[in-house]
Amino acid sequence: MDSSAGDAPEMLVSRRASSKTAGPIPADDGGFRLICTDFDGTLAEPDGRPIASSFFKRLRAWRKLGRVYWVINTGRTQENLTAELARRQVPIWPDWAVAIEREIWIYRNRRAVGWFEWNRKCELMHTQLFASVGPVWKLIEDFVARHTGAELVADAGSPLGIIAQSEDEADEISAYMEPVLANWPMLVAVRNSIYFRFSHKFYHKGACLEAISQNLGITPNQVLVAGDHLNDLPMLDRRYARYIVGPANSVDEVKARIFSQGGCIGTRNYAEGVVEAWEQLLPMPGASTELKNQPRSDAV
Ligand SMILES: [Mg+2]
Repeated sequence: MDSSAGDAPEMLVSRRASSKTAGPIPADDGGFRLICTDFDGTLAEPDGRPIASSFFKRLRAWRKLGRVYWVINTGRTQENLTAELARRQVPIWPDWAVAIEREIWIYRNRRAVGWFEWNRKCELMHTQLFASVGPVWKLIEDFVARHTGAELVADAGSPLGIIAQSEDEADEISAYMEPVLANWPMLVAVRNSIYFRFSHKFYHKGACLEAISQNLGITPNQVLVAGDHLNDLPMLDRRYARYIVGPANSVDEVKARIFSQGGCIGTRNYAEGVVEAWEQLLPMPGASTELKNQPRSDAV
């Protein structure tokens, strides 16, 4: 754990005085080396448009100074993410991906190769866990069917998936499940907006980021992480990343977590907000103020 956690002030990029309210944190331990981003809602907008070019421009600029890895950490399946990256025509592909919040994949020439040891153990742990918590599935299915309009669906990552009709309904389902799941402490519900799947307590976005960082010989002090929704909370932690950011469209729980961890929220949505907060916490070495991304007058 970073011993300096909690030292940095809360940061919110301000339209009025961004350079005064958000002082940069100097990189140490050999500098910034890894950016880990959620995909949907953090970089990618729901309308399917290309991801903001400013994100790739900044990644390229950092890569001129040294090796900086990019990890996409998503709830999508690997196949779905790969297809979406191609569809959105990303100019740079990630080096690694975390799929369904727990599987780890390495991209080589735009093709994903699974991290065999990690994924095999992960699958084994989940198979054993899901088989050991049999009664829980019927309890949850009955509640959802009788008391909500949510849809029970097949899910790539767990025996049961749920799609609520609204955030409010998802809140109701969360409230019901909390005491139920207390009886099975290794089983957790992973919520992303109106979507739910179930997972082993030890496998989440943060654990996967830690495993990738350690594999690359990168310390948390060299990592920046970005997320927008509840399934990102496990990785928005100084245990895994010194620099923690989110776009303006992040949900309130995520904003509160980012602030509590000394991170920064952009005033813009999606990738542009991520870049804005990234620039505040990690200015390009030697960059002049003219190169900084200034918030637009119509920024949210
Ligand atoms: Mg998201």
